[in-house]
Amino acid sequence: MNQQFKSSWESKNSAELYGINRWSNDYFGLSKDGKVTAKTLNTEVTLMDIVEGMIERDLQMPVLLRIENILDAQIMRLNEAFRSAIKQSNYLSAYRGVYPIKVNQQAQVVEEIAAFGERYGHGFEVGSKPEMIAALSTLKEPGSLIICNGYKDQEFIDLGLQAIKLGFQCFFVIETPTELPIIIDRSKALGIEPTIGVRIKMTSQVSGRWNSTSGDRSIFGLTTSQLIDVVDSLKQENMLHCLKLLHCHLGSQIPNIRDIRGGVVEASRYYADLVNEGASLSHIDLGGGLAVDYTGACSNDDQSRNYSLEEYCADIVETLKHTLDEYSIDHPIIITESGRATVAYSSVLIFNILDTNTFETNGLPEPLPDEHPLLIKMREIFEYLKAESVQECYNDAHYYRDEIRALFKRGQIDLRSRSVAENLFLDILHRIADLLETLARIPPDLENLKLSLADIYYGNFSLFQSLPDIWAIDQLFPIMPLHRLDEEPTREAVLADITCDCDGKIDTFVGEHETVATLPLHPLKSGEEYYLGVFLVGAYQETLGDLHNLFGDTNVVSVRLNHDASFDFVKEIHGDTIADVLSYVEYQPAQMELNYRNTAERAVKEGRITARERQQMIKTFKASMQGYTYYEKEN
Ligand SMILES: *Cc1c(COP(=O)(O)O)cnc(C)c1O
Repeated sequence: MNQQFKSSWESKNSAELYGINRWSNDYFGLSKDGKVTAKTLNTEVTLMDIVEGMIERDLQMPVLLRIENILDAQIMRLNEAFRSAIKQSNYLSAYRGVYPIKVNQQAQVVEEIAAFGERYGHGFEVGSKPEMIAALSTLKEPGSLIICNGYKDQEFIDLGLQAIKLGFQCFFVIETPTELPIIIDRSKALGIEPTIGVRIKMTSQVSGRWNSTSGDRSIFGLTTSQLIDVVDSLKQENMLHCLKLLHCHLGSQIPNIRDIRGGVVEASRYYADLVNEGASLSHIDLGGGLAVDYTGACSNDDQSRNYSLEEYCADIVETLKHTLDEYSIDHPIIITESGRATVAYSSVLIFNILDTNTFETNGLPEPLPDEHPLLIKMREIFEYLKAESVQECYNDAHYYRDEIRALFKRGQIDLRSRSVAENLFLDILHRIADLLETLARIPPDLENLKLSLADIYYGNFSLFQSLPDIWAIDQLFPIMPLHRLDEEPTREAVLADITCDCDGKIDTFVGEHETVATLPLHPLKSGEEYYLGVFLVGAYQETLGDLHNLFGDTNVVSVRLNHDASFDFVKEIHGDTIADVLSYVEYQPAQMELNYRNTAERAVKEGRITARERQQMIKTFKASMQGYTYYEKEN
């Protein structure tokens, strides 16, 4: 690459290419010297400096990096945005946020939310007994909010009632009519009055891929007749005053703000009529749904959103006020259960590239002596290869290559000739691909040509373990190199993971204008690692992952950025060892070692190896058992 060409590419070109300023929500940017930085108020640190710190601590790739300040900043933004929307519209009550633990249940994340969220009274939404116990043991302030969703048995309800007695604001949200008698019985038995919510089944239809269960067939929530039954039962028990909260959840990642507004109108109608029925409602919980703009497109596409956080808050507050004022009903405390938007930004999966496969030839192969006529035919294609004849040349190249493959199978052409044919074929395709750039219209047959010639970059990570949503539901996450961004990326690549499973690949990326099939990357430099980051992976990825090929949990590092642009490693968790993952699938590592010792001992007895060799083999075996499941670099 000549100097002049190199200097014409700057970080800002990379910023445009990878769209970092569109999807990063201001938490990531680029330094002038071509490195990705993490940013929060008054400070900016390059991720490569953090990677260096990991290497010094022998934390091998892949690593899941959590940036605590970003998590804090998101909680702050959410609470402040609701506060200012409330002030702006003269809404006469408050906002209280809760974090749904299911979105990322890791103790480090939940503890940080509890610690930072305390200043805003940010609480938790729980959907099971384990989540309830996590909430009870992390929240410190009396008065903290706990919203209990999901099916609740007697034990769950006892935990909640005792929490109320302790001073928590714990709401039992009734999802099915069968829960109510248990709540009433246990509350009488323990002598503690419950605070109750009802979850309604919304009929507002919501677009977006996670939301096919919204509407009448929603599996959660009470139908209107069940709701009336609950109200009547509570009246009968003289407990209608315990019904304080109305709950609805339209779905996750709602891309279109109009759907959210429609849902709030419907919820307000329920709220008003329940108040008229005599319930002393004081809280309205609008669930999750606040979307993350993964593509940065700012559109109502599934992986994006057509609104800002400020607009989301303002729309909710104004719609509630407007609807309830019509009925002269007091403004309730607004609760939302934003999970995805709270945690997505704070985690980045970082991995190194182990190898690449480029589908290229080193120039035209020299003609062999007595070259087969089909090979000569193939060479002739170069003579008539022009923009006007790309389709014809493409067809011919395929025809001759396939003929040669058939001859090879029948033993009529040798391996060396076949290799020449494959190289000629690739060379022709590359020249066709170059010519396509000059065409106004690309023939349909050739649309995927660029993809079929793309490099494969092999990454040191497992898609199944670390990015399950890419594999399961084609989720898009922004991916880009962490460094060399002041250099033009001259390769086009798809990513393959370390599992060597054909599903373990990524071939859809956030592009400059739309999603694209290949990611622009830099050629590897020998003796230098090349690091990529997968961004916005804090939500829904960590616990859904599986042990495909027995690749286990990755190393996790939490950092905190300081005002002077330094940073601290505040927490580190070493990922699973090989012994760990084997025991998850019920192997017994101690027994396995014993078996191997015995196998080696037999080999000694039979004179196939020496006792000293046996010793060495057992040492390697034991060290492997305690090692990381991913590709390790020896120091
Ligand atoms: C999953 C879930 C949430 C979280 O939704 P996000 O879209 O991630 O904010 C909130 N509330 C309930 C009841 C949920 O099931």
